[in-house]
Amino acid sequence: MKVELGGTGLEVTRVGFGGIPIQRLGMGEAAEVVGAALEQGIDFIDTARGYSDSEEKIGRVLSSFGGRVTVATKSFARTRDDMLRDIETSLRNLGVGHIDLYQCHNIAGDDQLETVLGPGGAMEALTEARDQGIIGHIGITGHKPWIVAEAIRRFPFETVQVPFNIIETAAANELLPLAREKRIGTIAMKPVAGGAVRNVLLNLRFILTSGMDVVIPGMDQVFQVEENLSVLDGLSPLSVSEMEVLLREKEDLGDGFCRRCEYCMPCPQGLNISFLHLIGAYYFRYGLRDWAWERLQGLEKKYGDCVRCGECVSKCPYDLNTPAIFAELGRRIAEDRKKN
Ligand code: SF4
Ligand code: SF4
Repeated sequence: MKVELGGTGLEVTRVGFGGIPIQRLGMGEAAEVVGAALEQGIDFIDTARGYSDSEEKIGRVLSSFGGRVTVATKSFARTRDDMLRDIETSLRNLGVGHIDLYQCHNIAGDDQLETVLGPGGAMEALTEARDQGIIGHIGITGHKPWIVAEAIRRFPFETVQVPFNIIETAAANELLPLAREKRIGTIAMKPVAGGAVRNVLLNLRFILTSGMDVVIPGMDQVFQVEENLSVLDGLSPLSVSEMEVLLREKEDLGDGFCRRCEYCMPCPQGLNISFLHLIGAYYFRYGLRDWAWERLQGLEKKYGDCVRCGECVSKCPYDLNTPAIFAELGRRIAEDRKKN
């Protein structure tokens, strides 16, 4: 099942491939997962300069894959010169001469928007690259849909990419109707909220029947490809009882949980921040206490090693107070181990 990404003329599968999790895999394993996705029909891949070696891992597979794949990547660069450099690096990493969609990555506030749109800003580089045919289209990504909405009022971006899932539906208020009106393609990132949402298929169906063109679940195992693609078979809106299942999950999760985007990394003290959040979720939310405890013991840096420098707090798009959460998790886990 394909869709045109807004007015770009790019026809892509509605389930695309999100390139974050392959960072955790070795080169060979990543090639297997990306290869499986392409072989099973996924023809839209999203990655980023900021996802460590994700572009390179994808590039290796693209070079040996004969089929047509739409590739999207993005950069945190805010100035023209930095963006020109990043486009060059992306082309080299991906092993291509042309990138279909290049996005301005995670515009988080009005000040950043001013910089990229202003003189000497990143949009100058992206526009030049598009005029020269080096990139096909220009998109924008961000975790705050109201900022992205402001961006598309001020610049003719061709796609938007924002978080959308049962927990994060803010994009539906203003951004999605505006994008539809302007024929801008809509891409849903974080479809399972960094692994926090457990009913993956219900959630993907929810997203694709809520006005999003494409959803890009991250995949780091081959079986996930077939599973995620199965959502396209007879795609239909959720029934009332299915919706109730997701809403119950939303209520259980609340707002203060880590989506594993890893924007806060690296921690100067060497804590694996997103994994420590995950361990806490497994311990208390999912009740896998012994499993989580064993993983925690395998880590060199634990909750107590956080020195509360606050660096991760300022980088987190969800405003998570990680040092406070870690202090609380450390205390609760220690208390629980004493009891049991
Ligand atoms: S507050 Fe703690 S977890 Fe966050 S960056 Fe500083 S030391 Fe690392
Ligand atoms: S703490 Fe925030 S920035 Fe870090 S991985 Fe989690 S959601 Fe992302």
